[in-house]
Amino acid sequence: MPGPAPFHAPYAPADEEIAAQLLSAPFDAERSARVEPLARRLLAAVRAPKGMGHVERLLQEYSLSTREGLALMALAESLLRVPDDSTLDLLIVDKLALGAFDRHAPASDALLVQATAFALGLSTKIFAAEETPRGLVAQAARRLGMPALRGAARQAMKLMGGHFVLGETIDEALSRASADDARRWRYSFDMLGEGARSGADAERYFAAYAASIAAIGAKAGSRALPERPGVSVKLSALHPRFEPLSRERVLRELAPRLLALARLAKRHDLVFTVDAEEADRLELSLDVIDAVVADPSLAGWDGFGLAIQAYQKRAAAVIDHVAALAEAHGRRFMVRLVKGAYWDTEIKRAQERGLADYPVFTRKAMTDLNYIACADRLLAAPRIFPQFATHNALTVATIVARAGDASAYEFQRLHGMGEELFEALLAEETGARCRVYAPVGPHRDLLAYLVRRLIENGANSSFVARAADVATPESELLAPPCAIIGEASRARHTRLPSPADLYRPLRANSRGVEFGDREAIAALLAERDAAPAPIAAATPSAGHSGVAPRELRSPIDDSRVGSVTEADADAARAAMAAASRAFPAWEATPFETRATIIERAADLVEARRGRLIALLQEEGGKTLDDALAELREAADLCRYYAGQARLLCAEETLSGPTGEANRLRRRGRGVFVCISPWNFPLAIFLGQIAAALVAGNAAVAKPAEQTPLIAQEAVALLLEAGVPREALQYVPGDGAIGAALVAHPQVAGVVFTGSTAAAQSVHRALAASDGPIVPLVAETGGVNAMIVDSTALLEQVVDDVLVSAFRSAGQRCSALRLLCLQEDIAETALAMLIGAAQELRVGDPRALATQVGPVIDHAAQARLEEYLALRRAEGRVLYAGAAPQRGRFVAPHIIRLDRAGDLREEIFGPVLHVARWRAGDDKDFLRLVEEIAANGFGLTMGLHTRIEARIRALAEMTPAGNLYVNRNMIGAVVGSQPFGGSRMSGTGPKAGGPDYLRRFLREETVTINTASFGGDAHLLAMKE
Ligand SMILES: Cc1cc2nc3c(=O)[nH]c(=O)nc-3n(C[C@H](O)[C@H](O)[C@H](O)COP(=O)(O)OP(=O)(O)OC[C@H]3O[C@@H](n4cnc5c(N)ncnc54)[C@H](O)[C@@H]3O)c2cc1C
Repeated sequence: MPGPAPFHAPYAPADEEIAAQLLSAPFDAERSARVEPLARRLLAAVRAPKGMGHVERLLQEYSLSTREGLALMALAESLLRVPDDSTLDLLIVDKLALGAFDRHAPASDALLVQATAFALGLSTKIFAAEETPRGLVAQAARRLGMPALRGAARQAMKLMGGHFVLGETIDEALSRASADDARRWRYSFDMLGEGARSGADAERYFAAYAASIAAIGAKAGSRALPERPGVSVKLSALHPRFEPLSRERVLRELAPRLLALARLAKRHDLVFTVDAEEADRLELSLDVIDAVVADPSLAGWDGFGLAIQAYQKRAAAVIDHVAALAEAHGRRFMVRLVKGAYWDTEIKRAQERGLADYPVFTRKAMTDLNYIACADRLLAAPRIFPQFATHNALTVATIVARAGDASAYEFQRLHGMGEELFEALLAEETGARCRVYAPVGPHRDLLAYLVRRLIENGANSSFVARAADVATPESELLAPPCAIIGEASRARHTRLPSPADLYRPLRANSRGVEFGDREAIAALLAERDAAPAPIAAATPSAGHSGVAPRELRSPIDDSRVGSVTEADADAARAAMAAASRAFPAWEATPFETRATIIERAADLVEARRGRLIALLQEEGGKTLDDALAELREAADLCRYYAGQARLLCAEETLSGPTGEANRLRRRGRGVFVCISPWNFPLAIFLGQIAAALVAGNAAVAKPAEQTPLIAQEAVALLLEAGVPREALQYVPGDGAIGAALVAHPQVAGVVFTGSTAAAQSVHRALAASDGPIVPLVAETGGVNAMIVDSTALLEQVVDDVLVSAFRSAGQRCSALRLLCLQEDIAETALAMLIGAAQELRVGDPRALATQVGPVIDHAAQARLEEYLALRRAEGRVLYAGAAPQRGRFVAPHIIRLDRAGDLREEIFGPVLHVARWRAGDDKDFLRLVEEIAANGFGLTMGLHTRIEARIRALAEMTPAGNLYVNRNMIGAVVGSQPFGGSRMSGTGPKAGGPDYLRRFLREETVTINTASFGGDAHLLAMKE
């Protein structure tokens, strides 16, 4: 029988609607009466002096709301992966300096807490002898020897890890689990790791899963399901690009891998659970699962299962889908119901992506309420075996009270947590069962996992943390979620703005698209594909040009996109004259009107997204992701500058002596020449013009030669929004036309984005003019570096490097050009990076799965190829990807440098240079920064480290205008990361920043002597 239709449900429905449904569920007084007494008993067990588990004790001792708690987490997360002693010393000093560990006398007598406190306290006492971190290390090393200290810290971390990992290998875990058997726990083993970044990673994880299934199977005993052990798998571990836009590839490559593992699990009749990951992967996960479970080879096996997250608004729909799947295939599925482990990530991502609403609830009580509703749904589904994973005594008691037959479901807990809770439950509820989710893996991998669990459970909304805090009254812990919510209108957290309102009151957030929502993607593609054919011809707005039209060809496949008639000198002059004529009336237009017009342009950008995306792709060679990001940036810039204009253009009263009135006004300067590049043909083009216009200037805009069509579309859109025709002049043309505009006597200002050389020639031309001295706002290139030290999490580094260096085919001025890897981790990092780069798909950017599109034109391609040929001849190519032959494609490359200082020019394409640096002591780090700074640029810079002191040091001395720490270094968000550099990278002020608009305004003060007609009437009339 065929399975149900692919899963789909509204991605982020209104919280109030769901709350209304949940709150209206019939109330069963009898069952409810059972909840509280049981919950009370369970809570008492959790809170009993001996009842507290390791996590609870650790949280009690080092609460995450204390500096010590945070420092401990930070140390635990990174310590064991640092291979070199010198960096390790810096890390230890750095973290211990954050907390008062030396004064921390542990209240708990648990060995774990005592040992941790001892190791940390001992270390801090020693370090406290001197002031500077370097001095501390030197002092400590002299007196006691660092090895002893390092050893103590490592031991403390291993001890911590040992409590949460069942074994470093599956065999070790199995023997510990079997020793526990008498205590009635069932087990599900989980192979730790950070998810695959490369094909090799995916194979390694596959092999680890397969081996553990075989090992678990061999020791599984003879009991029947669900009494059998199991394994939990993460789909993100089985494929390096487990992401919605790579759907076809994931189905083709990942589904067979999952099927192979499921078959192995079936052979031993094990429980096989697919973990739940981020919300945007839900549809894709279910597509993979649908495909796998439909395979006839799995028929007759009831061990297949998946986790469902109750914090997701789609949880009920997922349960219905799984129930339909089980029905269609005539067998049982296991479903682990969790609340969800990625809540903070989901909130952040929805905000970043500008979604209409959150896919998860924003009040914890809503998650709790939904959890119970989902539990009811699971318990009512005949072909589902529910598994309730929670450490919340109230949730557990509620389920017990509602479920009836205890053998029809099981509870689950994490190894190292909830032991006392379930000991108590199993003791009093005959038939109740609990499975332990047991992480297996080396301590190095474990600690990152552990820290996530600790942060999640240490949050002050978490039941575990609140239960560990004796100050929290029982009544609060046991308050039923429906009572906390009360009514549907209270379903949302009041302090969390919706993603759309994130930047209010200044501006609305631009509308994004969730790639994990197939309906949203389909709508976007339909708009793109239905958009009327892109404009075929671009022409200057003023005057007729004598220049013959020039054909425009797509960088994707050289197909004809349209043509452009460029301006000649006459047309350029005519444009300047027309703009000059239009300026006074536009400048006299109230700033509120101007701001409203520019905001209307932002709305039009969003309304015309299909057409604009089509153009950005065909003319600019952009991937869907890039085109959408650019569209959003364009809308954000318009709204931001409109908001700034309202703040800056309102007349200000200034203070002064009595008897005079002082007023400050900011007004347009005149005609601004706006020259923009091809790499952001919409966002930068529109951003420059919006700033000029909203400030009251007339604008004469020259787009890049490569992208005049998208620019013409932007001009049309501004005119439609209400900009007077003459106040905005469109002048397509080459550099000579740009130079003619800049040299025109009517120029009141120039805003330029492009190469450093071109900016310098604009600067020279303006300086040579005998006319008024006019401002130049220039944003140019950079040789942007990222420094990585050995405390960094390499998986995170690899993600950020790939995006920073290769997204947009490296054609962003912010792009990463120079990666500086600490030599101790360089080999490993490079191997991971190359493995991940191999997974990038280079090709037609209109295809969803493409990550790297073409470079802009033949000249760019030839320049890059020539550069790469030279590096190849020098034997410096560490990695060369593959790219299509047809079209303007350049494959991603990684080039080896001897030193960071060797890169002196901006290579504008998908070419990443890598240099190693030695970290003997902290001076090496500072020397490296100086070496990078010596290239003369100052645009963007990245740093991956867990050493706070290093972050502070770089923030002080960075030459870059934009420093990004522990993240990627592109995609500056308007108003959050105002963009632009200094030195050879530009003049400032930063685009999308609070000072940008000022450069487009002239300031006037008006001072009136109000006492001129005989006296200061106001002063004299002043009352006592
Ligand atoms: C055996 C087992 C397996 C697990 N497998 C997975 C898995 O595959 N995928 C996964 O994502 N998680 C998984 N988890 C983690 C699980 O999601 C968390 O442990 C769980 O959410 C904690 O819930 P609780 O009932 O123990 O604690 P509680 O303290 O009652 O709930 C905490 C949870 O509430 C939610 N929450 C917190 N604040 C808010 C808020 N403001 N608004 C809305 N919701 C909020 C979050 O989900 C948070 O984790 C698993 C847990 C266990 C025990």
